[in-house]
Amino acid sequence: MKQGVLFIISGPSGTGKGTICNELLKQEKMFLSVSNTTRERRVGEIDGVTYNYVSVEEFERQIDKGGFLEYAKYGSNYYGTPREPVESRLQRGENVLLEIEPQGALKVKQQISDAVMIFIIPPSMKELKKRLEERGRETKEQIDERMEASKWEFSKAAQYNFICVNDKLDECVERVRAIIHDTVKERGLIENLLKENY
Ligand code: ADP
Ligand code: 5GP
Repeated sequence: MKQGVLFIISGPSGTGKGTICNELLKQEKMFLSVSNTTRERRVGEIDGVTYNYVSVEEFERQIDKGGFLEYAKYGSNYYGTPREPVESRLQRGENVLLEIEPQGALKVKQQISDAVMIFIIPPSMKELKKRLEERGRETKEQIDERMEASKWEFSKAAQYNFICVNDKLDECVERVRAIIHDTVKERGLIENLLKENY
């Protein structure tokens, strides 16, 4: 049976990954992986929907059992993609979306080399800081930490398949949708060639 395609939306915090994924899911039929995290649940977030919120002990048990496709430490918290739901959806032919930071994205690419990696960049560092500040979720210190982390993250962007600038949201979402459509179509063409009798 035809495998689904794994799409990874990645990049620094505040670039608009979450906003873009929300928009994509309104228009595309894809499975969004729900990550596990050890960070505190914030107001408005829903356990099992935004993240699965787990203790450090539980997270480390899952690491030992090989339960993560990838995981990373970001700030002082763990974040990880549960392996089973992603692998089973791909096997069933569904397209899967991960929204994760770059350390984890690069680890996925090592295991699933045909994953499509999309790096989201802001129009400027000034705009990135402004988005983090206006989102108002992190403390000033955490925003400084995230801006600092973004330097290493930007240095990995050239390893991705695509780089999309999230200046105007609509335009960025359209670009990502075009990448998804083109990829699915191209993979289908290859499948058909391989099925051909000659
Ligand atoms: P990430 O998931 O990458 O951390 P978010 O999706 O939470 O980023 O976006 C960070 C902030 O920037 C949010 O307040 C969001 O509403 C805002 N935002 C996202 N995209 C744009 C855009 N194109 N223009 C202006 N603000 C944006
Ligand atoms: P936040 O605390 O803002 O929700 O997430 C912090 C960072 O962790 C974001 O860049 C987000 O994309 C990333 N992230 C969320 N889930 C995962 C995951 O499962 N694995 C990895 N590696 N990063 C994740």
